[in-house]
Amino acid sequence: MAKATKTIQHTLSYQASHAAWFAETHAFYNRVVAFYFDVIHAHEGLIDLSNKEALTALEKLTHATLDNPEPVFPLSEIADSIPAMFRRAAINAALGSARSFFAHLKKWKAKKAKAEAKGKKFADRPPVAPRSWNTCVSFYSGMYKDRTESRIMLKVWTGACWAWVKARTLGREAQDGFELGSPSLIRKGTTWWLHTPVEKTFTGPSKIATQITKTATAICAVDLNIGNNLAVCTLQTVEGTLLATRFIKGGNRIDGFRKRQLGRIARNRSRTGIIAEGEQDNKVRWKRIRHADEAIAHRISCRIVQFATAHGASVLVFEHLANLKPEKGKYSKRGNMKRAYWMKGRIFSYAKYKAWNEGIITSRVNPRNTSRECARCHAPIIRYAKANARAEGYTVGTPLMVCPGCGKRDNADRNASLVIGQRLITRYQEKPHTLSLEKEDRKLSGPSLSQDAKSEQKPSCSLTQRHEERCGHGTARREAATMDTASLSIATQLRLFNE
Ligand SMILES: [Zn+2]
Repeated sequence: MAKATKTIQHTLSYQASHAAWFAETHAFYNRVVAFYFDVIHAHEGLIDLSNKEALTALEKLTHATLDNPEPVFPLSEIADSIPAMFRRAAINAALGSARSFFAHLKKWKAKKAKAEAKGKKFADRPPVAPRSWNTCVSFYSGMYKDRTESRIMLKVWTGACWAWVKARTLGREAQDGFELGSPSLIRKGTTWWLHTPVEKTFTGPSKIATQITKTATAICAVDLNIGNNLAVCTLQTVEGTLLATRFIKGGNRIDGFRKRQLGRIARNRSRTGIIAEGEQDNKVRWKRIRHADEAIAHRISCRIVQFATAHGASVLVFEHLANLKPEKGKYSKRGNMKRAYWMKGRIFSYAKYKAWNEGIITSRVNPRNTSRECARCHAPIIRYAKANARAEGYTVGTPLMVCPGCGKRDNADRNASLVIGQRLITRYQEKPHTLSLEKEDRKLSGPSLSQDAKSEQKPSCSLTQRHEERCGHGTARREAATMDTASLSIATQLRLFNE
């Protein structure tokens, strides 16, 4: 079974005086976490145990009970009455940090030993245990109650005693099939939010190698760009039939927006001449850029996954990010390019988890010359700007392509996207995994059934269906029809912050 997890965020509305109690609880929790981290630090062997065993061992070391009246490190030195679930949440948080710390330490030691064995100088500093703590309070069951869509009761530390506090929650609800986990209290600026992990278990998709063997598998390939077409998605079957295309635009708008903001930042900086150290200048403008980038990355990745699910794709493929080539030019231009490049990475990682939640596997292929190769005959292409101009050479960033080998004419980005999809298919077809596949197929007979049903789903559009009925497998007409529906369902234009 596969798991999909995400976090839903709720704003909390509470009595003004309760904010101080939330802060108290947060500080108290961190004191307990720090205490347990120290205990684990003194008993390094604890991290080799499983979480459950470590929890029991730590409670024995610190918590006084009738059977265990005098623990070695009494927690009561910090406070007398700590609810068991509060303590356990803190123990797990401390265990998590300790595991991470010791893993880093182990790596560092190994590196040092390796360097010394070779007689090299080793100057890397060892990892340092956290000196201050700022872990968010996790409320295990028993620490919260009466949770509804709009309300929650939290047990908090007021500084003197434990009290139940009622707070209203405002935000998205968990989708069907997702189960709520333990909420945590998060401080954002001066307000407190509630973050709740939600989890869904579902029958995971079979491996790409298995899927490639079925001709019905549809692959959604995505070419990410820094031009106006931020993403160009194509849907093709394993045999290479193009089923649908979608251009996701909005690059020029975000580009212009960022450039304006960066230009103003540069101007402001040159006017004041000095930038205070350790303090962010032009706070508001940087925040705007950050938020706009974040919003676009989420929106584009969401559209990619929507497109893939709408057409029943079960594999999503991108190309690896090539290295960023430093640009020359003004500050605003350089900064803009850098951010456009980072955005590609962000779109990929967001699309990856969003796709997984829909049961789609994401993969990446070698980016070498994906946009310089013909999708039909793999000859180097000619890339040019205008339809009536003479096509010659390869001009980076221009929209059209023509293949001197087979005469294919297409949009250059769409051609690149097709090549990306083909690379994935050939990668698996070149090295067949037949033996393991058979085994896996038998094992996954349940899931693969449901997957087949899913990937055979056609876009539920009467237009497409009519076309298909009439022309059977006429790919060209079918493609045209799906493209129509695609452009119909493109939602509103990308919006940016107003200045
Ligand atoms: Zn060609």
